[in-house]
Amino acid sequence: MRYLIILLLLPILSFGQKSNHTLKSVGLNKIAEDYVRLGLAIGQYDPDFVDAYYGPDSLKPVGIKGSVFPKDSFLDVSNNLLEKLGAYKAKDTDTSLSRRAIWISRQLIATKRRIRIFSGDYASFDTEAKELFGIIPPNFTEDHFRNLVTQLDRLLPGQGSVNERFQKLANRFIIPRDKLDTLYKVSIAESRKRTLRHYSLPKTENFRVEYVTNKPWSGYNWYQGNFKSLIQFNTDVSAFIEKAIDVACHEGYPGHHVYNTLLEKNLYRDRGQVEISLYPLFSPQSLIAEGSANYGIDVVFPGEEKIQFAKNVLLPLAGLDTTGLTTYFRALEIKGKLQYVHTEVARRLVDGKMTDKEAVRWTMEYGLFNEGDAVRALAFKKKYRSYVINYTIGQDVIRSYIESKGGSGNNPEKRWDIFERLLSNQLTAADLQ
Ligand SMILES: [Zn+2]
Repeated sequence: MRYLIILLLLPILSFGQKSNHTLKSVGLNKIAEDYVRLGLAIGQYDPDFVDAYYGPDSLKPVGIKGSVFPKDSFLDVSNNLLEKLGAYKAKDTDTSLSRRAIWISRQLIATKRRIRIFSGDYASFDTEAKELFGIIPPNFTEDHFRNLVTQLDRLLPGQGSVNERFQKLANRFIIPRDKLDTLYKVSIAESRKRTLRHYSLPKTENFRVEYVTNKPWSGYNWYQGNFKSLIQFNTDVSAFIEKAIDVACHEGYPGHHVYNTLLEKNLYRDRGQVEISLYPLFSPQSLIAEGSANYGIDVVFPGEEKIQFAKNVLLPLAGLDTTGLTTYFRALEIKGKLQYVHTEVARRLVDGKMTDKEAVRWTMEYGLFNEGDAVRALAFKKKYRSYVINYTIGQDVIRSYIESKGGSGNNPEKRWDIFERLLSNQLTAADLQ
């Protein structure tokens, strides 16, 4: 008899819970739509705000925009949405809803900071980094970089400064302009083939490649929605041989193109989470995007596989000799450890503690850039400010998260698995630390 009562009660209870969940998710969906509307409205003024949007046209702004950036009104809307989201972050809320609410809240904190920056109301580098991307990167002294460069001093052959000797070696491996398209396409095909061995992406996923000039970046993935990307390469930037592999993985597979495709497929199409259809560039989402795109290079080409691919496939196609390649790749490993020089230079520039001339010197001396690329890197930092942290601390956060879950280089299958989950969910730095 007790069984019968329990059985009779069950449908009522589960109906009650279900309808409560449905009601709550309707409410949250409404907030998510308003969050998207706000982002698209900001994007009418701030041309760098919206990196991608593939949601419904109904959320796009209508009418003619005002001539003045409505800073206070955008801040009010953000605060209002943040307040409403509070109800969904309570402990008793279904975790799928509270996770969405927390994610949208963090995106909105970044939105508020970007609204201020766009209005010329600046904060310190660390405050910007924390509010925009969810983390403050570590500080490094000039001595830290100087010590790393000493390791190169021992490794590099020839006479002159470390930078001169590094450039001399690196210049042996510049891809000739007429071979660039072939090498980029071969590298993308290889990283795509390797990624598809592990992930099943929608059949229609695809990308288009374009070559551009006069940009502060070296490559850019413009996600178009419907599992399509436009990948642009800046031909002004020196195209060293490893760049073909790096940008193929970073912009394409399993980097930005795959990340956006998995988010669109799993969250927007399968679960109807409209907030994911807007990708605001200055937001915690970028830390995951850039960090995973950089970390993804090691996932696709672990250990010595990158140098092997360069040696056996790319250099012969480019008509270049392989002499010195091993030393060059050892030097690149040390150059990788010097990446934080960009974070430190950006911090000092934003905080008004470094001149442009010093920034170029640090980038050449400790970042091992040639002068042209160092000047371009300065333009990038002035435009994107604390954004550079996403490439360094972003990659480190993702690496330690994946390795702490058992996905080290010794366990490649598990690494691909954890990496796919990371690319398919709403996560921020705070969730990974
Ligand atoms: Zn990127």
